[in-house]
Amino acid sequence: MSKNHERLIKNLVEDIRNCPQLPKLVALAIEEISLLLDEMISHQSYYDYLTALPNRQSFNEKLTFTLENLQQKEKMLAVIFLDLDDFKHINDTLGHGIGDQLLLQIANRLQNYIRNQDFFARWGGDEFTFLLLDINNIDDVSNIAQTMLRSLDQPFKINQRELYIKASIGISVYPYDGKDTETLLKNAEAAMYLAKNKGRNNYQIYRPNMGIKANKRLLLNHSLYKALEQHEFLLYYQPQLDLKTNKILGLEALIRWQHPELGLVPPNQFIPVAEENGLIINIGKWVIKTACEQNIAWQKQGLSAVKIAVNLSGRQFQDRHLVTTISQILEETKLDPCYLEIEITESAALEDMGFAIAVLQALKKMGVHISMDDFGTGYSSLWSLKRLPLDKLKIDQSFIKDMMNNLNDVAIIKAVIAMGHGLKLQVIAEGIETAEQLAFLKSINCDAIQGYFFSRPLPPEEATKLLLNWK
Ligand code: C2E
Ligand code: MG
Ligand code: MG
Repeated sequence: MSKNHERLIKNLVEDIRNCPQLPKLVALAIEEISLLLDEMISHQSYYDYLTALPNRQSFNEKLTFTLENLQQKEKMLAVIFLDLDDFKHINDTLGHGIGDQLLLQIANRLQNYIRNQDFFARWGGDEFTFLLLDINNIDDVSNIAQTMLRSLDQPFKINQRELYIKASIGISVYPYDGKDTETLLKNAEAAMYLAKNKGRNNYQIYRPNMGIKANKRLLLNHSLYKALEQHEFLLYYQPQLDLKTNKILGLEALIRWQHPELGLVPPNQFIPVAEENGLIINIGKWVIKTACEQNIAWQKQGLSAVKIAVNLSGRQFQDRHLVTTISQILEETKLDPCYLEIEITESAALEDMGFAIAVLQALKKMGVHISMDDFGTGYSSLWSLKRLPLDKLKIDQSFIKDMMNNLNDVAIIKAVIAMGHGLKLQVIAEGIETAEQLAFLKSINCDAIQGYFFSRPLPPEEATKLLLNWK
């Protein structure tokens, strides 16, 4: 029931109550309706509408009440924070209806694994919290966490479809990991983030010195939600040099986050967090739009047109609206699609090859260029190279790093160049840091390079200067 409905019914009840000629029976009925209404409203503020489990507020109050009323101070209790792995992916690909049904089934299944005295709540979204009372030792909690994880091994059946989902669990124990509601929850959440860092589908018990990494991830997660609206993201641009013509053939847009407390945060730290919480979709849109706008601005300044490359991570690539989003941005910014390049990794494409081919073909049809990033670090499958409509291969920097002392790396680089050319792809090497590396790549027919030797990623003004001055 919405707040508006609530107000309407309350006003109605009040009007009828104030009506002097009301028969006694009707008046009594109205009083009952009014009581029921109050009950419903109070139920709504303490229970989750979907699963009918207690909600975040209930959990907070229950934990606070329990802590305040602990009779024997030596007793232990545990807070479990459970976050589903990759649930966002299910919502994004199968829709919220299926997502809701899955949450409901998960809640029902988990309910079987708690004891009568424990308290179980839906914290929000795909997060559940548990308060375990009367704990004798940490093993009790570990066993419960393990059983919960194992209970998710069996698939969930929704509309004849079998869905698998895993979870990451964090645990904090009173009195060791906190003596108040806020600290116990914060530490359980930090432990959950460590479980995510350790590859998900596991549980972690909070330890004071474990926190730094997990806490940073937690801090990043919380502050990412506001970063877009507070304009904390920037794009840097790293130029790519054509080794045959010596011209700048394009620039790769690389995101940076100017965090108010942590300073400049590199993408490797926050992109995985944004993938996890789903914000990558909106951040990705911002990246594509900003890069296209920048490219148009350069063209308007009279600079010769170059390609702008943007990176797409796995989650973005699975987004059903990706093609529409890109086509809208191209229309809005009026950038000719041939000046936009999309960088994808093989692993992102391999997640659902059929879908990847369809998306890339649609983009290619629009005129957008497609580049395979970090080539050589994944499966490097010839099958995927043959089937994906690519324009460019980027040899991963790990091969370039030791290339001058490692014959194996040289053999691989030569083979990738030959194969790329055979497939009519442009081949570019990443991470070139020395003149020696550049000369060698030129001698073996590599088409282009990108790396600190030519230029580091530059903020927009400096990239503009480079484009203006490059002869
Ligand atoms: P990437 O797409 O492979 O980008 C190349 C990375 O190598 C960049 O790191 C770049 O600064 C770095 N690099 C370039 N030349 C050299 C060099 O000569 N030596 C060394 N050691 N490094 C060099 P950066 O900017 O930290 O980005 C890391 C990764 O984060 C990117 O790898 C890309 O996968 C991801 N990323 C960056 N921006 C975005 C974005 O807007 N969206 C998404 N989804 N991912 C992004
Ligand atoms: Mg890239
Ligand atoms: Mg790369």
